Amino acid sequence: MTVPLLDLGSQYRQLRGEIDAAIQGVLASGNFIDGAENEALERELADYIGVAEVISVNSGTDALLLSLKALGIGVGDEVIVPSFTFFATAEAVCLAGAQPRFADCSSRRYNIDIDSIRRALTSRTKAIIAVHLFGEPADLAPLQELCARHGLWLIEDAAQAIGARYRGGGVGSFGITGAFSFYPTKNLGAYGDAGAISCNDPALSKRLRRLRNHGRESRYRHGEIGYNSRLDEIQAAVLRVKLPYLNSWNAQRRQIAAQYQTALRDTVCRWPTPLENSVPVYHQFVVTHPQRDALQVFLAEQGIATGVFYAIPCHLQPVFSAFHASLALPQAERLAAQVLALPIYPELLEETVAHIANWIQVFERRRPAQA
Ligand SMILES: *Cc1c(COP(=O)(O)O)cnc(C)c1O
Repeated sequence: MTVPLLDLGSQYRQLRGEIDAAIQGVLASGNFIDGAENEALERELADYIGVAEVISVNSGTDALLLSLKALGIGVGDEVIVPSFTFFATAEAVCLAGAQPRFADCSSRRYNIDIDSIRRALTSRTKAIIAVHLFGEPADLAPLQELCARHGLWLIEDAAQAIGARYRGGGVGSFGITGAFSFYPTKNLGAYGDAGAISCNDPALSKRLRRLRNHGRESRYRHGEIGYNSRLDEIQAAVLRVKLPYLNSWNAQRRQIAAQYQTALRDTVCRWPTPLENSVPVYHQFVVTHPQRDALQVFLAEQGIATGVFYAIPCHLQPVFSAFHASLALPQAERLAAQVLALPIYPELLEETVAHIANWIQVFERRRPAQA
């Protein structure tokens, strides 16, 4: 049996009629940018996340960049980000002209550690980006409190976490903005690049809309330098077909994660326990294993695909070499060496999860874990 890490084809086959009709509808309308599909998508996403407004943009990266720009963050400013995240979190800070400051993750979770944030604070700090990594909500309440005390903005990078909940609210509704990605492999995936920003502040929402469309205030009148970051109508139409299914897909992901957790209980694999009062959406199911590389090779030999997210923490990326000598973030570095993402997607069968878990047990019997 071969098991892919992800299977986008089966979701398309399931929804083919609806998706093809939605795309045909856009083609027939002759309206490709800035039309009814985007307007409806923004309203539906705002209701889903639980915010006043959603601004659709062309990627999750732009959702972060435009958030920073709309808040006036740029040259001379610093933004604290977790080092253990997808590169785009830190990249957006640089694209805005500001400096990223890297924080470690907590010893028990994949998400940002508040003590490490305190050590990264300077007089130039303007914002903290909390990433809900792998679909697991970061602990937002202490971050909100810290931001309030120091006069900082809290931005949520919810690119991997649409539908996840924290203390009864949707992720993306706690920060000044929330950034979402609809990259095809995300839990809600378009058929191309796509993203969105959630926001409760009317003035900021207005500025975000302007920035997304060349800084335009009205037709051919430009009050500031902006971007071309509009979402096209075809992607919006596809996302509108998929959104009503998202809760059931996320529930299936939680069920698969629970199956892994039961089946791997007696192995040396470890994973974080979600925070109380939070509902994760398992964009990835990621374990740590002391012999990660050997385990990955062994599973590949059995036809089981796995992934390493992320092998290089941001502070050790070549482009951030200025940090290499001075910054040690032991938890991020340990995770980079030990994490392994196992196959997870809503259509993954229970017997396939059992099959994967069984081969992990076989691996451990053959290569007893070193202390
Ligand atoms: C995917 C992702 C992004 C960027 O989203 P794109 O739509 O690919 O630009 C940002 N942050 C995190 C954590 C992501 O996983």
